[in-house]
Amino acid sequence: MYYGFDMGGTKIEFGAFDAQHRRLMQKRVPTPRDDYQALLGVLTQLTLEADIALGCEGKVGIGIPGMPDRNTGELFTANVPASMGKPLAADLERCIARPVRIDNDANCFALSEAWDGEFRQYSNVLGIILGTGVGGGIVIDGKIFSGNNYVAGEFGHLRLPVDALEVLGRDIPRVHCGCGHNGCMENYISGRGFEWLYQHFFGDRLEAQRIIEHYRSGESKAVTHVTRFIDLLAICLANIFTVLDPHLVVFGGGLSNFDEMYPLLPERIKPHLLNVAKVPRIEKARWGDSGGVRGAAFLNLVD
Ligand SMILES: [Zn+2]
Repeated sequence: MYYGFDMGGTKIEFGAFDAQHRRLMQKRVPTPRDDYQALLGVLTQLTLEADIALGCEGKVGIGIPGMPDRNTGELFTANVPASMGKPLAADLERCIARPVRIDNDANCFALSEAWDGEFRQYSNVLGIILGTGVGGGIVIDGKIFSGNNYVAGEFGHLRLPVDALEVLGRDIPRVHCGCGHNGCMENYISGRGFEWLYQHFFGDRLEAQRIIEHYRSGESKAVTHVTRFIDLLAICLANIFTVLDPHLVVFGGGLSNFDEMYPLLPERIKPHLLNVAKVPRIEKARWGDSGGVRGAAFLNLVD
């Protein structure tokens, strides 16, 4: 049995999955944001409750909004102050007497998709979250490729490629990013970036959903905006694809629900790849909100 915890800033979701990846248990509890002992207590209690209910000792994985230090195991979790700087895996291992695996929540999202029944055929899978920001994960042969610092797959903090300046104009502002750098992709290709670009070019501040509605009704500014945005996204994706040459790319986050972009992207991506490269299959995430907890549980599928 595989137990997953998706630890967020406000709630922790727990799920127990069997060997066929079916979810047998599900529970949500508030995150003890500022009390580390309470956080350990919640994770311990949910684990032991599931052991009793399922008559087994499940393997435990945790997805966190941040990353562990490779050497010390201490977490960087800005949205969960309770676990900031704490060696959560080692401490929880003592409480529940078994190994605990921890990884970044965007990596867990990618892992969940890579283990989808149909997607499992692809050995190199990228998960890209186009939400408020842009996150992502790389899965190779069913296992997360997390890099030396759990930073692999943080596509949002690549800087805009030069080709993007042809689309956006050379005077496009280098937006200051939360990471401290300027001009990171996520400020342009996230849901927030989608809205910022519309405002930059047309002066109106509209929510992404409204812009998409206008696009669907054929309104000319929205059509111009979406056409430019898809070109920009294609350029950014093509750069990533040239490094990782994935078989499959799965989009999550709010903007992944913009269905019209899926048939448009391949032809826009193709000119920016090497001639020999085929555009990978690009799909919307299949596991929605349950991706985080599934991926956390699946951290233990492969040794
Ligand atoms: Zn950044």
